[in-house]
Amino acid sequence: MLDILFPKVCPSCRTAALRNENLCSLCLSDIRFVNDWSFCRKCGIPFGYFSPEDRENLEWDNESSDHLCGKCLEGKFCFEKARSIAIYEGKIRDMIISFKYEGKLSNEDVLLDILTTNLPDDLDHFDSVVPVPLHINKLRQREYNQSVILASGLAGYAGVSCDLFGLRRIRETRPQIEIRNEQERRRNVKGAFLVPQSHKISGRSVLLVDDVFTTGSTCDECSKMLLDSGACKVQVLTLTRAKGM
Ligand SMILES: [Zn+2]
Ligand SMILES: [Zn+2]
Repeated sequence: MLDILFPKVCPSCRTAALRNENLCSLCLSDIRFVNDWSFCRKCGIPFGYFSPEDRENLEWDNESSDHLCGKCLEGKFCFEKARSIAIYEGKIRDMIISFKYEGKLSNEDVLLDILTTNLPDDLDHFDSVVPVPLHINKLRQREYNQSVILASGLAGYAGVSCDLFGLRRIRETRPQIEIRNEQERRRNVKGAFLVPQSHKISGRSVLLVDDVFTTGSTCDECSKMLLDSGACKVQVLTLTRAKGM
C-alpha cells in the first residue's frame, strides 16, 4: 500500500516504480562484479580488467586456485586476503561519492545491500569486523564515516561484533586518491593508525572493511597494525576496487 502512495525510487537514477529491488534493473546491470573475472587469490585484483593488455599476456589457468598477481608474488601485502565486490566505476562510484562527500545517507541501504548479498564465498571465518577509521578532524567535517556504516551493517548481517574503535587514525593524511605514486601512498599512511586496545584484537580473526581498495596501501598499513597487536588473521573486504597506479 505504501508503495502505491509513495513509490520507491532508484537511489541512483531516481526512476520510480521499483518493487523489491533496491536499484532499478538498468542501474544494477551497470555494476561490474569482481567475481565475474578471474582474480588474484590474495589481493583480489581482477586480472586484465584495469589493463586489458595484461589479459593477453596472462597465461590463463582458471582451475588454479592460487593464481597470484605480480605484487603478491613479491609478498607486498601482510593481510591474508582482500576481496572486493564491484569495480569502482559508473553508478556505484557515483553512489559512493555522494554517500561519502555529499552526505547522501539514502545510499546507505543500497550499498550495504550490494555488499551483503554479494559476499565472497571464499572469505574465511572472522570473529569481528573493524572499519578503516577516519581522522577525527575529517570525521567532524563529514559527520560520519562511510566505512563504519558498511562495517556495522555487515557485522549485524554476519552476526559478529563490530569493533568501531579497533583502529584509530592518529594523524591526518592526504587523500590517497591525490597521490599517483605507490611508494608515496605507502609513506602517506605509514604510522597513521594505531590499535588503542590490543586486548580486544589479540587472538582474533579480523575482517577489515572499507569502501574502496586502490593500491591497498591503507588496508595493508591497517592490517599491519592489527597483526602487530596480536590479531591471528586479517582479511580485507571492500565494497569496490579502483584502478591502482
Ligand atoms: Zn536506476
Ligand atoms: Zn595480488
